[in-house]
Amino acid sequence: MKSYDKFEPFIEANCQTIHELIRLKGLNISTFNVLYRHFLSHQISMDNSEIECSPGCGYCCHLRVTASIPEALIINDFLLKNKQLALYHEQIEASPDFFSSRTNKNINWWVKNRVPCLFLDKGRQLCRIYEVRPFTCRSYHSLDMELCKKGYSQKAITAIPCYPDLKRSYEAYSISFERTMKQLDRQSAQLELSSTVALLIQNPDLINRWFDGGQIISV
Ligand code: SF4
Repeated sequence: MKSYDKFEPFIEANCQTIHELIRLKGLNISTFNVLYRHFLSHQISMDNSEIECSPGCGYCCHLRVTASIPEALIINDFLLKNKQLALYHEQIEASPDFFSSRTNKNINWWVKNRVPCLFLDKGRQLCRIYEVRPFTCRSYHSLDMELCKKGYSQKAITAIPCYPDLKRSYEAYSISFERTMKQLDRQSAQLELSSTVALLIQNPDLINRWFDGGQIISV
């Protein structure tokens, strides 16, 4: 179990920021976009000199990635504004088992199957939503890319060395969104990214339902 005790004051401060902005601007997608950019511009500066990740490695984009519902909504909004919804719609429709194959699977299934993220450009191994990727993705990094490669090719659970505080500082933003939404009586959880955004793409009416306080996904 990861401990976020050290980051508790940071998470609480973020929750207050989220509450304050929602009070001023309302609970809507525009507020979430502002908050996302705000958090990025206030990211704690930490040592990252030994990170070996590079564009096109993409190993961690074949593992279970989670996001809070506001982050999934931010991505959906990005796709809408960039006229990319149709592209993903086709991709999702072409895989009828898209949700069942990944939503609640455990880590062993992910490690064994190495299913790519919906947003991974498989040819170039690049993220197609890089600027709005969830904080979990921003948290992932490796101090030894050879281990990422080995774990990927051997389909084995592999401990990847990283800067733990750097990782948790990013995850803390997602936890802050999750916690605040719960306090506001909105459905709130860390959900598997691809299937959650796919659900929103296929059922856009769920977005208003969520803002109105309804359940949009069973967890
Ligand atoms: S959102 Fe982007 S960075 Fe995150 S797993 Fe998907 S492709 Fe990779």
